[in-house]
Amino acid sequence: MIVTVEHLDLTYQSPDGEVEALRDVSLSVAEGEFVSIVGPSGCGKSTLLSAIAGLEKPSAGTVAVDGEVVTAPSPKIGYMPQKDQLFPWRTIWANVTLGTELRREGRREGQARARELLERYGLQEFAKKTPGQLSGGMRQRCALIRTLVTEPKILLLDEPFSALDYQTRLTVSADIYAIIRREGKTALLVTHDISESVSLSDRVIVLSRRPATVRAVHDLAELRSLPPMERRDHPAFRRYFNDIWKELDVHAG
Ligand code: ADP
Ligand code: MG
Repeated sequence: MIVTVEHLDLTYQSPDGEVEALRDVSLSVAEGEFVSIVGPSGCGKSTLLSAIAGLEKPSAGTVAVDGEVVTAPSPKIGYMPQKDQLFPWRTIWANVTLGTELRREGRREGQARARELLERYGLQEFAKKTPGQLSGGMRQRCALIRTLVTEPKILLLDEPFSALDYQTRLTVSADIYAIIRREGKTALLVTHDISESVSLSDRVIVLSRRPATVRAVHDLAELRSLPPMERRDHPAFRRYFNDIWKELDVHAG
């Protein structure tokens, strides 16, 4: 297992008191796997990703990556937060090479990788443009490339498509999926969109309302081998969707 989360508790201390976000969360992700985490809004999904990224300290339990306990951000993990966070005043080139700029070592290799990735994914001609001149989908692709330049083994994606409209989301998510597969990365995607989770992943982990606990884990065995766009027409799609829908605790109260 490349990611192992064991009995994770996380309670925030705030001026108004404590907020229990995660309770006894255990899960694992295998190398090369694409796993989605779905759960109601505010249940603790981003908290879980931040803990895995080493950005939030658990109150109890452990996160391990490649068998090593995570206590701080690691170069093995590429974290894409909820907003694309490209710097609007920097060119696409300056954005995707940001990671290599901050690291003294391997700058030249990083720049070569950036050039190669921009070319492979059709963004070379936009290198001198700024993010504002690109579509939402292309900005997502740039944000992913920026993360890939640092060569992480694992990608953590926090609702990367939530700002896009429905139609765009379908094509952009398929695009991002294809890049992640082609680059052979392990991915952990957080979303509140069941269709998105069923179209993209090998497994779906369903979280309860806050404090988040693991309610169920679905192996999408019948869809795994299909690309996202073909999954939606497969008979198993509805079945997985309905099962997850019933478990997702957004209907009552
Ligand atoms: P989700 O991503 O599932 O919408 P979050 O993980 O962002 O949920 O938040 C889970 C809960 O923790 C929410 O009630 C949120 O208000 C609270 N929370 C998130 N971050 C902090 C923080 N830094 N301090 C205090 N409470 C927080
Ligand atoms: Mg969130």
